[in-house]
Amino acid sequence: MSSSTSSKTAPEIAIEIKGLVKKYGEKFAVNGIDLTVQQGEIFALLGPNGAGKTTTVEILEGFRNIDGGFVSVLNFDPATKGEAGRVWRNRIGIVLQSTTDAADLTVQETIEHFAHYYENPRDVNEVIDSVGLREKADDYARNLSGGQRRRLDVALGIIGSPELLFLDEPTTGFDPEARRAFWELILKLRSEGTTIFLTTHYLDEAEALADRVGVITNGKIIEIATPATLGNRATAPARISWLENGKIAEIESLNPTAEIEKLIARFNGEIPQLQIIRPNLEDIYLRMIGENR
Ligand code: ATP
Repeated sequence: MSSSTSSKTAPEIAIEIKGLVKKYGEKFAVNGIDLTVQQGEIFALLGPNGAGKTTTVEILEGFRNIDGGFVSVLNFDPATKGEAGRVWRNRIGIVLQSTTDAADLTVQETIEHFAHYYENPRDVNEVIDSVGLREKADDYARNLSGGQRRRLDVALGIIGSPELLFLDEPTTGFDPEARRAFWELILKLRSEGTTIFLTTHYLDEAEALADRVGVITNGKIIEIATPATLGNRATAPARISWLENGKIAEIESLNPTAEIEKLIARFNGEIPQLQIIRPNLEDIYLRMIGENR
């Protein structure tokens, strides 16, 4: 955690949302959501296109006004303008969904430029290394590939040593290796005390990173839980399959251990091609979304 000269008491709750409503014309983009994010937590907001994720994040970042309810971010109303808003903004980091246009600057220059906006920036070279852009440090930002550009966005989001980092679909366009490296970076930031609010369409990303996930559809939160327990995942039936008489046999069971014992007795030992498959987060998520259409 960064040491700041300002005297601020560390809030236990980083984000608090109560009964939040946001309308565009007659349409409810966010329709009464409640959620709390603890300090030091990674929280992932999941939901299909148009569910209200970006609207929620933009409200938390202070970019959109609200039509009802209550929002507090680091014990502060994000809609506050003026000097107080500027000081607060110094404590948060933002990686927006759409990348901003790169000026005629190299990667290194871009990050240095942004570092000047902050009271307590991280070391520029350290940030370049941590987002894996060392080899591109002297290239013009506008010549980066899509995934490299996204890494630069992440660098700009963390350069100010934020207490709270917003990541809106941060790994879109990343290759698998870059995604893994990015996950490590995020987990490192959390270990340093950074609170992270993430939206993502990648369920494996939510599973790898999030302490808790919230699922939103049509502007409403359906459930908030840990990735392991969302949608009764922990107690959902397991699928057991094996090879018998030249064909794959398959059953679903709430008591897979008992079923396996029966199979062991039947086969008198090794069960050919045995598989026990538990629903993954994506299976659970898709079921929840399907039921709440
Ligand atoms: P995605 O996964 O596609 O990014 P999202 O969950 O972030 O979706 P939002 O961008 O928050 O969804 O949009 C929520 C709803 O509000 C959608 O129906 C969208 O069409 C609508 N909406 C968003 N921004 C505006 C706007 N500026 N004016 C009017 N309607 C908007």
